[in-house]
Amino acid sequence: MTATALDRRRLTDLLTAERQRFADGHPRSRDAYRAARANLFGGVPMTWMNKAAGGFPLYVDSARGAHVRDLDGHEYVDFALGDTGAMAGHAPAPTVEAVQRRLRDGLTTMMPTTDAAWVGAELARRFGLPLWSFSLTATDANRWAIRLARAVTGRPKILVFSYCYHGSVDEVLVKVDEQGRQVIREGNVGAPVDPTTTTRVVEFNDAAALERELSHGDVACVLMEPALTNIGIVLPEPGFLDTVRRLTRDTGTLLINDETHTLSAGPGGATRAWSLQPDVLTIGKAIGGGVPCGAYGLSAELAARLEAMPDLDLIDMGGVGGTLAGNPVSVAAMRATLEHVLTDDAWGPMTALADRFGDAVQQVVDRHGLPWTVSRLGARVEYRFCDPAPRTGGESAAAADAELEDYLHVYLANRGVLLTPFHNMALMSPATTAADVDRHTEVFSEAVGALV
Ligand code: PMP
Repeated sequence: MTATALDRRRLTDLLTAERQRFADGHPRSRDAYRAARANLFGGVPMTWMNKAAGGFPLYVDSARGAHVRDLDGHEYVDFALGDTGAMAGHAPAPTVEAVQRRLRDGLTTMMPTTDAAWVGAELARRFGLPLWSFSLTATDANRWAIRLARAVTGRPKILVFSYCYHGSVDEVLVKVDEQGRQVIREGNVGAPVDPTTTTRVVEFNDAAALERELSHGDVACVLMEPALTNIGIVLPEPGFLDTVRRLTRDTGTLLINDETHTLSAGPGGATRAWSLQPDVLTIGKAIGGGVPCGAYGLSAELAARLEAMPDLDLIDMGGVGGTLAGNPVSVAAMRATLEHVLTDDAWGPMTALADRFGDAVQQVVDRHGLPWTVSRLGARVEYRFCDPAPRTGGESAAAADAELEDYLHVYLANRGVLLTPFHNMALMSPATTAADVDRHTEVFSEAVGALV
C-alpha cells in the first residue's frame, strides 16, 4: 500500500469528523479567531498562523516546559516548541529570571552589556568560529551574512538548495522544477527581482549540479542547512558535505551553515557534530529561549578580509545591522539559555527521547505495513509518507500529502498532542519526558489504526 493508495474517502471522512470535534472542543479559540478578523490581516497576528489543520488556530493561554494550555483549558504535550524557538522548553526559569532582571535595568540603550562577549565566547566554543555579531532573527542573520559574502568576494550571486528555507530572505525563494530548471518558488510574494537573477539553485545531495553551478565563478556563497529541515528532514548522503566544502574552497566560494534548526543535532549543531568547517554560521530562535535573537559567526580569515576593506560601511548605513540587534534583553536571554538550559549535557536525554519517539512510530508503521519512514536529526524526528526517505528537496516536496498530514495533526491535537504545523515534525526539549513521548505514541497509533 502506498500513501496514495490509502482509502482516500475514508481519510476525507475522518478528517471532516476530526475538524468537527476540533471546532466543538475549542469554542473560545474559535470565537477569538472570528473576533480578530475585524482588525488583524487574515485574522491572525502573522499570516502563517493560518496554517491550522483544525480550521482555525488554537489560542494559547500559557506555555511551560514541554506543555501548553489553550484558551479552552485543554493541555497539550507540545512537540512543535515554537518551530524550534522554544527548544529550551517554554519559559525556562533561568532565561525568565535573567530577562526579568535585565528588563528592570533598561531594555535598550545603544550601549553594549558584558553578556554579549560571554555569548560570543560560548558560540565560538560550540561552533568553532571565533567572531560573532547579533541580529533579532535568523532571517536577518542570513541577510547580513549574504551581504558580507558578496562584499568580500565581489560576486553577485548566491547558491542555495532547492526547497530550502532560510527565512524571508529575497534570494532564497527559488527551486529546481520537475524539468530541472531553476525557477522562482510558487507563491513568492512581491519578489523585488526574479530570484533566479540573484541565485543559483541545485538539489540537495547533487554534487555534480553543485560543481556545475559553482564553476561559473559568480557565486559569493553557498547558504545551506547541513540537513534540510524545512521541506521535511532531508539528510546529507555520506560524503556530500565534504564535497560541498571542497567545491566551495576550490572555487573561492564562501560557505554559510544555517544552524537555526539543525541545532537539534547537538550543542554545536550539525557543524560540530559532523566536524564541518563553514566560513560563516548563522543561527536564531532557540538560543534565546524564545526571546527574539539571532547571531552570525565569522571565521578569523573572513573577518580579517572584511576589516581590510575600508570602503565597507559597517557602522552606519551600509545595510548590515538593526537598532535593537544585540539589545541587553536578547543577549541576557541567550546567555542564560546557553549557560543553564541548552547546555552540552542537554542533548543526550533529548536525543534519547527523539529516538524513543522515532522507534515507536517505526513500530506502528511496520505493524500496518505502511510505506512511511522516520527521519532523525538528534533531538528532532519526523515521519514521512514515503519509503525510502527523500534525498532531495524535490523528492521531499513530492512526498507531501496535505490531507493526511492535516488528519494526523487534528487527530493528535484533539487528544492533547501538538506537532510542528508545517511538518510531521517533533522536537524534544530538556523539559520533555518519556511520558510525553508515550502519549504521542498512543494517540498516533490510534490515529493510524482508525485510518487503515
Ligand atoms: N533559517 C532556518 C533554517 C529556518 O528554519 C528559519 C525559520 N523557520 C529561519 C532561518 C528564519 O527564522 P526567523 O523567521 O525566526 O527569522
